Amino acid sequence: MAASIVSMEWVAAADLAQARPVHWWALASGLWALVCFALIRSGRTRRWRDPAFTAVQIGAAFTSNAAAYVIAGQARGIVLPLLALVMVFGVFNLSERQIKALLAYSLTLYAVAGAVIQWGTQDAPAPALATVYMLAVIVVLTSSTVLALRIRAMRQLLKRQKQELASAVRHIHALATRDELTGLPNRRYMQEALRVACLSAQRSRRPLLLAQLDLDHFKQINDTHGHAVGDQVLKAFAAAAQKSLRASDVLARWGGEEFVLMLVDTTPEQGRRLLERLRAAVADAALTLEGGVRVAVTVSIGVALLGGDEACGALLKRSDDALYRAKRLGRDRIACAEPAPPVCAAADAAACA
Ligand code: GH3
Ligand code: MG
Ligand code: MG
Repeated sequence: MAASIVSMEWVAAADLAQARPVHWWALASGLWALVCFALIRSGRTRRWRDPAFTAVQIGAAFTSNAAAYVIAGQARGIVLPLLALVMVFGVFNLSERQIKALLAYSLTLYAVAGAVIQWGTQDAPAPALATVYMLAVIVVLTSSTVLALRIRAMRQLLKRQKQELASAVRHIHALATRDELTGLPNRRYMQEALRVACLSAQRSRRPLLLAQLDLDHFKQINDTHGHAVGDQVLKAFAAAAQKSLRASDVLARWGGEEFVLMLVDTTPEQGRRLLERLRAAVADAALTLEGGVRVAVTVSIGVALLGGDEACGALLKRSDDALYRAKRLGRDRIACAEPAPPVCAAADAAACA
């Protein structure tokens, strides 16, 4: 708009157009541009459906351009190339219908402008030149509209492809980190989460508990009721267990009927209470099959507290040993691992030994 105003004032200064209408036009167009700028920059339009009110701005730009065409006198030819620019701004926010409506509006506007020049001004161009100007207007407006529509279609396609790609990535991520049957995080996810949690717990010196859970006599359930019922029991277990957990606890399916539970920032006492609640909830949540048959399931749990400089793998091993102890002691119970042995520094290895 600034470039257009400078050009028009220049034309007026060179006596190619009447100065007074040009000054009024420059004032109105400049004020309008400033109002738009202030509205957008102040953030007042942020809540509008289109914060740039593109259709209104483009409509106003066409109106200003047509007015300039009428008052530009002998220099009116300079106005036409700018028409090509106006529509291109529409590709970002306008719908196809709006772009076509703006084409109709601008063509009508220029038909009126042409008529005003021919019959309302003294400096009307020769009929042949007026016809060529009108032809140029039609060509510039329609071709810039076609271009705008094409760019818009390409942007829409890119946008759709980007959305599809994002949703595919989300799906792949879910496949890679979730267990399909229970919806719980899978072993791969848990291994990484555990590695990070161990480092963070040791750095912050906060307690981290790791529990391994194994359904008791699960093979019997499969053998008695079939594999499909076994699957339902696994799902029911996951749902029941998760109900007794806090948001920060991570329960993952480790494989088969084995699960791993990570309790961050949890003391052995708190952990024990939580696991006892979980064990009781599982024992209470019997699955009722068709025909009213109820399948009860119990869980054995081995739990270990992370040592100050213990490796993640060693923690898993200790909780696994504790789980086997819980099995040996009769199942449906919690067994705690022995505390982690301190790792000896080279200097006091002898004392450790
Ligand atoms: P324990 O109390 O000693 O743990 O005995 P268990 O029968 O639970 O243990 P075992 O390791 O002998 O059997 C585990 C069974 O879990 C065997 C396997 O067929 C079954 N299983 C593993 N994954 C799935 C699964 O995804 N769905 C079903 N239905 N069964 C599974
Ligand atoms: Mg088992
Ligand atoms: Mg097992």
